[in-house]
Amino acid sequence: MAKSLMEVVGEDHVVIDPDVAASYGIDWSRRYTGTPSAVIRPADTAQVAGVLAVCRDFSLAVVPQGGNTGLVGGGVPVDGELILSLRRLSSITDVDQAGGQLTAGAGSTIADVCSAAAAVGWSYGIDLASRDSATAGGTIATNAGGLRVLRYGPTRSQVMGVEAVLGTGVTVSHLAGLTKDNTGYDLAGLLCGSEGTLGVVTAARLRLVPESPERVVALLAFSSVTAAVSASLEFRRTVPDLRSLELFFDDGLALVCDVFGLPRPFPKAYPLYLLVEMASQIDRLPELSEIIESTGAVDDVAVATDTARCDGLWQYRERHTEAINTVGTPHKLDVTLPWSHLVEFIETVPNVVRTANPHATTWLFGHTGDGNVHVNVTGVEPDDLNVDEHVMTLVAQLGGSISAEHGIGRAKRPWLHFNRSKEEIATFRAIKNALDPLGILNPNVLLPVH
Ligand SMILES: Cc1cc2nc3c(=O)[nH]c(=O)nc-3n(C[C@H](O)[C@H](O)[C@H](O)COP(=O)(O)OP(=O)(O)OC[C@H]3O[C@@H](n4cnc5c(N)ncnc54)[C@H](O)[C@@H]3O)c2cc1C
Repeated sequence: MAKSLMEVVGEDHVVIDPDVAASYGIDWSRRYTGTPSAVIRPADTAQVAGVLAVCRDFSLAVVPQGGNTGLVGGGVPVDGELILSLRRLSSITDVDQAGGQLTAGAGSTIADVCSAAAAVGWSYGIDLASRDSATAGGTIATNAGGLRVLRYGPTRSQVMGVEAVLGTGVTVSHLAGLTKDNTGYDLAGLLCGSEGTLGVVTAARLRLVPESPERVVALLAFSSVTAAVSASLEFRRTVPDLRSLELFFDDGLALVCDVFGLPRPFPKAYPLYLLVEMASQIDRLPELSEIIESTGAVDDVAVATDTARCDGLWQYRERHTEAINTVGTPHKLDVTLPWSHLVEFIETVPNVVRTANPHATTWLFGHTGDGNVHVNVTGVEPDDLNVDEHVMTLVAQLGGSISAEHGIGRAKRPWLHFNRSKEEIATFRAIKNALDPLGILNPNVLLPVH
């Protein structure tokens, strides 16, 4: 088997040395670990097809992997699968300056895509704190959201077409990038959020968005969850060119300041904070100031318009994930609530966690503009599912989604039925059987065990 794989990708790109392979076998949160039987590093689509042909011949389970920044354990070989690393497919080609599109290899990072877009006067609609490692292929496979969903939509909204090798061994390619193209099933849309279970994405045609050079970032302090959530709803309706609306609490802020040696943003602490970003062709500061003034509930404000200060305010929010990792291995429960239950959820969930495990600590932050809360729980053993079960149950009771943007992976697999009917899950299985009839592609994620 190793010999067949070496014939496809070359001897240097079949990694069996356990020391070298080890970094591919542990996820970013350190909650999920495994030992890959080998790491295969193809250079192009033809080699990906060749690798999958060998996997089909030898019935080998394979986990596609991009930047390995996924947070639901979907990209690590917990059962000793092969890792198919797409990182070498990193070229960005066919940049269309006039039309605002480019073709990204699956292994190109989001930072690379953003730079290529900026070089021709455009921007990319997806941005997330993992931008330097997360790949085009991985963000498509997870339908990643991030910091600008309320303005541009999730990854699915940026993808005009994909090239992929399906589990059947067939390569499909639809990269023309026509703005309107109703010619049958939306295979690109289907692969968005498929978590490597249907096909291996090798390239994607991505739409770009106009640059918005005038940025205003405001950090607002609030005394209550109700006040912050009400302000979020108001801002979504009234703030022009709103690009981000993020929430975090004082315990998270204190941790970030402590871990990274940052000064606190205000002379005193407040219970929680909203970070608001407007991005426009024109200066929006006067409008934002007026809106903040008319929102009586804001207790304090820090505003920035130059890049350095804007980035400085963003650090308080963006560095939460890294800071929490220093406390312990977190259970990362990324959920969305309907607006009508968001306050109730935020106020209730820490008690629910404490009841499930008295040693647990809850950290809350998230993309409030989308009703999306990242519930992070530390102080719990990685394989203890009691806290997860309680939080997922609360989310379902309140009519929310157990996965807002990270996907199902291994982490949420037992609870897919909280959001999907048995008819929907049966349809998922039928799609899986059609596109991956031998079940070689990431067989241990997304779909429930039975
Ligand atoms: C600090 C930090 C901040 C983050 N912020 C956000 C955020 O704001 N929003 C958000 O949505 N996510 C966020 N994430 C999670 C993560 O960055 C995203 O899920 C991202 O899309 C994963 O991309 P990746 O290339 O690292 O994929 P990986 O982790 O390598 O893989 C993720 C999944 O995609 C599959 N996959 C990878 N590449 C391919 C491919 N080419 N073809 C088919 N399947 C493939 C894998 O099998 C796995 O199931 C964050 C993570 C970190 C560490």
